[in-house]
Amino acid sequence: MDTQAQTGESSASHAQRLERLAEVAVKVGLGLKPGQELVITAPLETVPLVRAITVEAYKAGASLVTTFFSDDAATLARFAHGSDAAFDTAAGWLYSGMADAYRNGAARLAISGDDPALLAGQDTAKVARANRARSKAYVPALELIANFATNWTIVSAATKPWARSVFPGLPEDEALSRLWDAIFAASRVDGPDPLAAWEDHNAALHARMDILNGHRFAALRFVGPGTDLTVGLADDHEWCGGASVSRNGITCNANIPTEEVFTTPHKDRVDGTVTSTKPLSYQGTLIEGIQVRFEEGRIVEATARTGGDVLAKVIETDEGARRLGEVALVPASSAISTSGLLFYNTLYDENAASHIALGQAYSKCFREGGAQFSEADLSARGANRSLIHIDWMIGSAEIDVDGLTAEGRAIPVMRAGEWVD
Ligand code: ZN
Ligand code: ZN
Repeated sequence: MDTQAQTGESSASHAQRLERLAEVAVKVGLGLKPGQELVITAPLETVPLVRAITVEAYKAGASLVTTFFSDDAATLARFAHGSDAAFDTAAGWLYSGMADAYRNGAARLAISGDDPALLAGQDTAKVARANRARSKAYVPALELIANFATNWTIVSAATKPWARSVFPGLPEDEALSRLWDAIFAASRVDGPDPLAAWEDHNAALHARMDILNGHRFAALRFVGPGTDLTVGLADDHEWCGGASVSRNGITCNANIPTEEVFTTPHKDRVDGTVTSTKPLSYQGTLIEGIQVRFEEGRIVEATARTGGDVLAKVIETDEGARRLGEVALVPASSAISTSGLLFYNTLYDENAASHIALGQAYSKCFREGGAQFSEADLSARGANRSLIHIDWMIGSAEIDVDGLTAEGRAIPVMRAGEWVD
């Protein structure tokens, strides 16, 4: 799809590509402005990228860069030695502080590179409690992020434990270098001019959004093996994708990479059956062969070939966890999809196929950016609310997608997983 990512100088060193990724993160991902503070969260193993980003941020005029590192060994120590009661505790003070920073104009950058299997052997009840406590404590910060109160982005960095999951058969160093190659290619920093490559890519995503917004579809219908699903779209929904303007007026690319155009489904208007087309990696558990039936927006039946017990727990998180908060279209020929890899990382896997997300909706995907809407306004238009937001893949080269107009007319949107022009 993107020749720049494929045919660039293969001679660029790792250090050069890391610098380019840092530059793309700061200039394209964040659009960081002089005088802005920057808050970074990152796994400990990603220090080299954090440092490169910190250099780029100060070059761009950042007033202060503050990084919070997470450490897998410390997380495991809690499960090995923490008291039972400790699993309902979360660092609320930290997330309130982050929320303060975002409210006062700080930008936010998250580096994802976590070990997908970190908690695989742990007590699932403790994992669920710890997640729930963290999700609740995180709400003040997450709301500002989800509502684009400030400019933010997520980028990935390869880590050894992550590489081990993606390339289980390879020696550790080779797996790490293969994962870096995939990240650099998908992040469009392989070619000589990554900033120009991102300008072209954003223009293509915006053109696709404009076509979909022009139709003002009432619903989408997905049909393929094991799937016949009608996803009603929220009233006044708008398609989003690529670069967008946050409420502080700064243009950012919230996900690097990104291949999706997405919008808000109506929480009460989803009907039919859907089968997952790729495994969902959820906190150390691989949930495969998901089959779900919706009635009036609500999941009434859910099974999975593996990980069904975890799926059942997830959809019981709260009432909104049984309903959809996002629907996204990604062609089956996207660069991440054709890599044929399963990344066990949402940032990558959700950009490999059309997907839906259980849980929280993005208020941004409404006309005028939803900025003028209160919670009650959003809910009246069909936006879902939940503590969770979990994307899973329902697209493939075997799936057709139609847009349904308010009058019920079907207009082809995708055939065999590709855009119909
Ligand atoms: Zn998505
Ligand atoms: Zn999502």
